[in-house]
Formats: sequence, structure tokens, C-alpha cells
Amino acid sequence: MTTHYAFTVAIDGPAAAGKGTISKALAAHFGFAHLDTGVLYRATGRRVMDGLLPIEAARALVPEDLDRDDLRSAPVAEAASKVAAIPEVRAALVDFQRAFARRLGGAVLDGRDIGTVICPEAEVKLFVTASDAVRARRRFRELNDAGFQTTEEAVLADLRERDRRDATRADAPLRAAEDAVELDTTDMTINEALAKAVALVGEARG
Ligand code: C5P
Repeated sequence: MTTHYAFTVAIDGPAAAGKGTISKALAAHFGFAHLDTGVLYRATGRRVMDGLLPIEAARALVPEDLDRDDLRSAPVAEAASKVAAIPEVRAALVDFQRAFARRLGGAVLDGRDIGTVICPEAEVKLFVTASDAVRARRRFRELNDAGFQTTEEAVLADLRERDRRDATRADAPLRAAEDAVELDTTDMTINEALAKAVALVGEARG
């Protein structure tokens, strides 16, 4: 069934909880577009590592910046969460995300503030969590598979530090919207988590 109207699925949660996997699979299932909003902050952080000032970097982002293949590393994640605490950086990225969210044909956006700030009118809001240990193991495996040398302990420490920074910043902190459905994926397989998400979106579409 094609969607000829705006329909937004907002997926928020801490780092490595499974948001990305669920979002991509949901979008493919329903034929919706998908935006990993973390990439906007990672690309901004990466350009700051190259020497730009954060606000200039956010304002000057071009599509090619989002396709860089060096955005997944731990230093870039840390740089992303630092620039993400700057209100002017967030403000520079709002319009693009809102337009994406309300495009015709349906959209899934994953991030930290989609259900609370970017798209409070989203038809479906999910807040995806998992225990710290499980998130660290998943992210460690991803990084390891991608060839990054690290340890599970180092990944756990990075995740905790990033979550702390994301949850305590004044502007658009990481938190569940009041009307979000919480999905704890600690003891779930990808297919189980996806089945829940598909059921929720299916119900909301009627
Ligand atoms: O999701 P990902 O790990 O790629 O996000 C990198 C960083 O970008 C997060 O730690 C967070 O600081 C920031 N971010 C944000 N708001 C979003 C998405 C990501 O502040 N909507």
C-alpha cells in the first residue's frame, strides 16, 4: 500500500540500542524514506575535526558530507555529541529534518529528539532502549567487524559518557516523549523487536 500523505515514525533512544536497525527495516517494510539524523551531527563533528567551527560546519553541510565513509568511528561519535550540545548547531539542522519528516510517502527518522522536538506530531513514536552491557557488546561487534581496534570496556565507557552528555544538555536532551512507546530490546532478537515496531506502525496507519 503506497502512502500519499505525510506519516512520520519517530525513533529515539540512547546510542547502540538498536534504533538504526529497526528504522532501516521499518522503512523498507512500509516503503518509507529513512533518515539517520545522527549522521548530521557526525558529519558536523567530522568537519570540526578538520578545523571548521561547529556552527559554520553545521550551516555548510552538503549531501556529500553525509556520505563520507569515516563517520562511524568513536572519535567522530564523541565530536558529534559535543557539537550536538550547541543550540545554534541544532537550529541549523532543524528545517532539513522537519521537511524530511513531513514529506509525502512516509518517513522514519531516528535520533535523540525526533519525538520531542523535531516532530512532536509524529504518528508513531518509539523510544528504543537496551541495557548498557548489551549496547556495548553490540556496538563493540559492529566496530570490530568494521576493522576498528577497541575493547568492550572502552566502548561501554564511551557510550555512557555520550549518553550522559546527550541526556544532560539543556537543548533537546535525550529523553522519551510522553506519548512514546518504550521498546526495551535487551532480551530481544532483531526480528522480535522489528515485529513489535511493525505492529505499532501498522495499527497507527489503520
Ligand atoms: O545516533 P548516533 O550515535 O549516530 O549519534 C551521534 C551523536 O549525535 C549522538 O551521541 C548525539 O549527541 C547526536 N544526536 C543528537 N540528536 C539526534 C541524533 C544524534 O543530538 N537527533
